[in-house]
Amino acid sequence: MKIMSINAGSSSLKFSLFDMDDEHVIVSGLFERIAIENSGYTIKYNGEKIHEDVELNNHQDAVRILIEKLISLGIIKSLDEIDGIGHRITAGGEKFKESVLVNDDVINDVIEIKDFAPLHNLHQANAIKAFREVLPNTPMVCVFDTTFHQTMDKEQYIYPTPMRWYRDYGVRKYGAHGTSHRFVSEEISNKLGKKDLRVIVCHIGSGGSVTAVKDGKCVDTSMGFTPLAGIMMGTRTGDIDPSILPYVMEKDGLNIGEAIDILNKQSGLIGMSEKSSDMRDIISGMNEGDEKCLLAFNKYCRSVTNYIAQYYVLLGGVDAICFTAGIGENSIPTRRKICENLACLGVKIDIDKNNVIGEYAKISTDDSSIGVYVVPTDEELMIARDTLFLTKNS
Ligand code: ADP
Repeated sequence: MKIMSINAGSSSLKFSLFDMDDEHVIVSGLFERIAIENSGYTIKYNGEKIHEDVELNNHQDAVRILIEKLISLGIIKSLDEIDGIGHRITAGGEKFKESVLVNDDVINDVIEIKDFAPLHNLHQANAIKAFREVLPNTPMVCVFDTTFHQTMDKEQYIYPTPMRWYRDYGVRKYGAHGTSHRFVSEEISNKLGKKDLRVIVCHIGSGGSVTAVKDGKCVDTSMGFTPLAGIMMGTRTGDIDPSILPYVMEKDGLNIGEAIDILNKQSGLIGMSEKSSDMRDIISGMNEGDEKCLLAFNKYCRSVTNYIAQYYVLLGGVDAICFTAGIGENSIPTRRKICENLACLGVKIDIDKNNVIGEYAKISTDDSSIGVYVVPTDEELMIARDTLFLTKNS
């Protein structure tokens, strides 16, 4: 069976077509700069990269060209060969506790939840509509970034703000990266051959979150009402004292939108280093003796360590710590530093085994109190698996 995973952004559309018999990617690609000048697409197929600059006025254009290319490249002979399409949706609010088959009501709900992810949900709903125009008979599924976190207890997801904010406005922790956290926690459970596991997943990329998982269910996660909360990130602060805002707004004459924008886009690694949001640049700066890069690196690792320590207590001990996403899968020094910070819990990293990039590995020593692993994430595959499951069982 062939299943397509779609990840639509405001000006982009990423896709992967899977052969679900062995879960391999048949073709993948990206449409970029939709509704912006110099738009185009890149398709990876048969070990080749095809790039073409082409006018993309909206997501409909991208979908039409994508389907035309799949046919002209001989990847599919007819549209019926696509058995299902899974769409990544950023916010599911409290409404969606699991992935669902798309119908008109679901699309309306996705649009209604837009307050929690103003840009993302609307564009993602538009992408669903664009696919439905071209493929009206193909079953489609919404896979939400938030549903994995819907198993949190109220004690974890509620904020100590007035209860009315939760009742009337839905102010609570929703989390993000749920599809990745679910994939990684399932993957480690399969690798270790155990279902009853206490796992801490560190999804650390340009955005990042840490999640505590018990027996396959999310117990707590570091992102909050929005993806601004939790650990320090490439350009985001993570948790800070909100009273900083009015203080700096008055000093710099900023309005609230401008101030929040700085917390989202000019803070974290780039804010502290005054150099880059990319961990590779931070590490090379640090190695060249740049004090700000060193401080940013140490602060970043400390903020991840703090969440691991918090979740160690919450879970009553931990069986596995998993690193994933851009930094987690690729940054040897970051993993090493975070693990060294955890030495008092008996965590011991094996320097040689940690010398791994982008592949599954156990990186702790045999006598480490907790197993530490690199587990590459695959959100697209997780979306395709859910889509297959729901289309088969519908
Ligand atoms: P996104 O949140 O955009 O999906 P990714 O998970 O792809 O982000 O992570 C991107 C980040 O991963 C980059 O900004 C960079 O900081 C980091 N990264 C990628 N490769 C390396 C590497 N070899 N060493 C250190 N950091 C890396």
